[in-house]
This record gives sequence, C-alpha cells and structure tokens, in this order.
Amino acid sequence: MSSPINPFLREANFINGEWVPANSGETMPVNNPADGAKLGVVPFSGVLETRGAIKAAHSAFGGWQKTTALERAQLLRRLHDAIMDNQEALATLLTLEQGKPLTEARGEIASGAAYILWFAEEARRIYGDVVPSPWADKRILVTKEPVGVVGAITPWNFPSSMLARKLGPALAAGCTAVVKPATQTPFSALAWGVLLEEVGLPSGVVNIVTGDAAAIGDELCTSPLVRKITFTGSTGIGKMLIAKAASTVKRVSMELGGNAPFIVFDDADLDRAVAGAFATKFRNSGQTCICTNRFFVQSGIHDAFVERFATAVKALTLGSGLDPASNQGPLIDSRAVSKTEEFVTDAREKGGIVVTGGQRHSLGGNFYEPTVISGAKPDMMFMRDEIFGPIAPVFRFEEEQEVIELANATDYGLACYVYTTNLGRAVRVMEGLKYGMVGINEGLIAAPEVPFGGVKHSGLGREGGRQGIEDYVETKYVCVGGFCR
Ligand code: NAP
Repeated sequence: MSSPINPFLREANFINGEWVPANSGETMPVNNPADGAKLGVVPFSGVLETRGAIKAAHSAFGGWQKTTALERAQLLRRLHDAIMDNQEALATLLTLEQGKPLTEARGEIASGAAYILWFAEEARRIYGDVVPSPWADKRILVTKEPVGVVGAITPWNFPSSMLARKLGPALAAGCTAVVKPATQTPFSALAWGVLLEEVGLPSGVVNIVTGDAAAIGDELCTSPLVRKITFTGSTGIGKMLIAKAASTVKRVSMELGGNAPFIVFDDADLDRAVAGAFATKFRNSGQTCICTNRFFVQSGIHDAFVERFATAVKALTLGSGLDPASNQGPLIDSRAVSKTEEFVTDAREKGGIVVTGGQRHSLGGNFYEPTVISGAKPDMMFMRDEIFGPIAPVFRFEEEQEVIELANATDYGLACYVYTTNLGRAVRVMEGLKYGMVGINEGLIAAPEVPFGGVKHSGLGREGGRQGIEDYVETKYVCVGGFCR
C-alpha cells in the first residue's frame, strides 16, 4: 500500500481498520502546489462511505469508552512517539501537498505530536465532582462521559496539526471519530491512519473519509449517531455546519476565520515589534487563521516600523518548500493567488502604497511576492475580509481609543497582538479588545497548554489547554438516595 513517493502516502479511505476505495471507484487527484505535479489520488467518497464510517465508529464506541483513562493515555503516548519517530517523512509529505517550507512542516508535525502528548496527560484528569448535598439522605455525584461519535472536518493550511487538536481530546475522552480532511491535503490526514494502525488503536475508533465535502459533511451533521461536529475552516462553511447540526442537536466546536489586528504604540520596543510582525504575518505564506490581517502603527513610530518591516520582508526567499534555500512557499492554489491580487488591486485603487512586493512572483504558478502596503484605510477590503496570503497592510493611527475601535470593527475575534512598554496601556487595550486570544509584545502564542479559539464569528469552543477536553465530554449528574439517613 505504501507509495514510492512517501512511506505514509495512502490512496484509500481508512474505515473500520481497512484501507478501502470509494464504492464507485472514483478518485480525485492531489497536486503539489509548488509545481502542479500530481502526487497521487484519493477516493471521491460520499454519503455511503460516510455512513459506513459512522457505523464503524458507533460500533467501536462501546468498547473504546470502556477502556481506562490510563490505557487511553498510554496509547496516546505511543502515538506521540510514533509521530516523532517519523517526523521527517510526515513533514515531507506535508510539504509536498501543502507547500510550506520543510522547517515549518517539521514544526507542524512536532506541534501535532505535542497536542497528542498533552491530551495523553489530560486523559487522566477528566475529573468529576462530589457536591455537598442539600438533602441529608441523598448524595450528589457529577461524572464526565465521552460524548460519543465525533465528526471532524479539517482545513488545508495545517492538515496534520489541526487533526491532532481534535483526535487528541476525542481519544483521551473515550470518543470515536470520523474524519473528513480538506481536498487539497488529504494525505497528511490519511497518514494518521497509518500511525494509528501502528500503535494498535482498535478498528473503527478513528475512520478517515475523503471526497465530496457537501455529501460527507451533510451525513456527519445529520446522522443521529454522530453526537458532535468539530470543524476548523472558514466562517461561511462553519455557519452552514452549525445550522445543519441543529437538526440532531449536536454539540459543535468551531475554529473559524480571523482578522487579527497587530497594534504598535509609539512606546513599543521596535525590534521586538518588527520581529513579531514578521512572525505573525509570513508563517505558511500568510495562510494561518491567526496571521495578522491589519497592522495598526501609531504615528510617531510608523515610518521607522514600515521601513524596518519592509526590509525584513524583502529578504524572504521564495521557492519549493523542499528547497532548503527557500523560507516562503507557494500559496495553496491559483484561486488563492487571484484573491491575493484582488486585495492589492483594491488597496492600490483606494490610495494604498505598495512598499515592497505587490505582484505575482517571477517563479510563476502559485507564488506571490511577500507584500507590504502602507496607507491602508478602513474602506479597503483588508478591514472586512480575511487575507489568507502574504500581504501586510499598515494603517497609521493617533489615539489609543481610536485603535481599539478600529481593531474591533470586524465580525471576527480570534487573535490580536499589542506592542507597548506601558503596562497600564497594555492592560487597558487588552481588556478593550474583543478577541479570544491576545499576544502582548508577543507574536507566537499557540501551544498545547493554552485554550486556542475565538469569539464572535471566529468560533465556538477552545482547542488545547485543560479547556480543550470539555467539548468532548458530557456532564452526568447522579443523585444517590436510599442508603443513609
Ligand atoms: P474551508 O473552505 O471552510 O474548508 C475547510 C473544510 O471544510 C475542508 O475540509 C472542506 O472540504 C470542508 N468543506 C467545504 N465545504 C463543505 C460542506 N459543504 N460541508 C462540509 N464540509 C465542507 O476552509 P479552508 O479554506 O480549508 O481553510 C481556511 C480557513 O480555515 C480560514 O478561514 C482560516 O482562518 C480557517 N482556520 C481557522 C483555524 C482556527 O483555529 N480558528 C485554524 C486554521 C484555519 P474541501 O476541501 O473538500 O472543500
């Protein structure tokens, strides 16, 4: 089954512990975004295969939920070790189908492993309560139980680690799962099937189905056997899934889009702000949900910031993610390049100044030049829409209250960043910002230990931290009477 391209590449669904094609035999191609080369195919599955996967997950739930927390923790630890033992092969597969530089891909694989380890540890801490009873002859217990079968739908930008954030808590809690990865990057998800087989996960506990997003998604949302949908992706699809899941009153966890503001005050440490700006914007070629979408820089430091930032951005080297000389890969597809062009055209037409970049890269294909635009204005598309590409628009501002209002003037509320050396200001601004996550003088904020997630249209629930398990367990209240006074 293993491919000569990569030992983890599988061209089949993983259902009930078996590698199987779509019932129709239909497939869909997977291409390398760096050069368009076909890497392989995966099944084009739909309702029937999803139904089979749900049935397998439902049957497996009976046994899996009865395993002890220690057994689940031990299995997750073995999974962590298997991931790290195969980090290089998994990272290479990720770069081939997603495009990010190999160093970033290695980081994503290690980050996924770290989430698995975190949830291995959390598996043993899913505590209930004994509550002081208001009745002399009754005792009150509160226990936690796994929610059941989980439907997990993941995006292409972090195709391995976004799955780790879902499978980690699901398996730790005693849930089983049906996974539907993004069409552009299914191999990194199918690789989890190989790993799970290797560490001895019982058949049917995790199932992976590729294919028709709407058909698979509808079945997951409407099946009464699936008790939770966990989704990472765009806000538009997330809203649709919430509505569909309502018909069977499922739990939903939604990690949706962002429009992160990055605020630099005059009193900021400029070196730190430039380094943070660079880190939050150009990781994964700007294709992360917590990438800065809007830079707001106070007048007194604005010109120095733009100059230093643009100099750092000009030094980026584009190329295939497998080329060790490259530190910036391609965008995921031609649609993403066209959308990036649209943002730049809109900004130019409304008076924005392209300081560096601003066009397709001479490498062609899906490569776009890392771009800095100054003179950004609230009527530009950046204010409203998620860029998801390598463009850094810089707005100039004067007052603290003005920038809080500008930063909050979006439906999104995922991550935001504030750079200041004034403690009082840091606290005021942090409290004024309507976001799920705030970095103060810090651009790299994600870790397994923290509750990652957004407010407003950026989502529901949290992934990671001790909070990350809560969406995968139900609370059961037990009243015990009849045995004491
Ligand atoms: P997307 O277009 O919403 O796709 C995400 C997943 O949903 C894919 O697996 C996709 O399948 C599937 N999907 C599409 N239509 C569906 C339908 N009708 N029913 C069920 N599933 C459906 O998002 P994306 O472009 O892959 O990812 C980028 C977005 O994800 C950005 O908005 C980003 O901010 C967000 N994101 C958020 C977080 C976070 O933690 N908040 C993290 C990473 C990314 P196909 O690929 O087959 O279409």
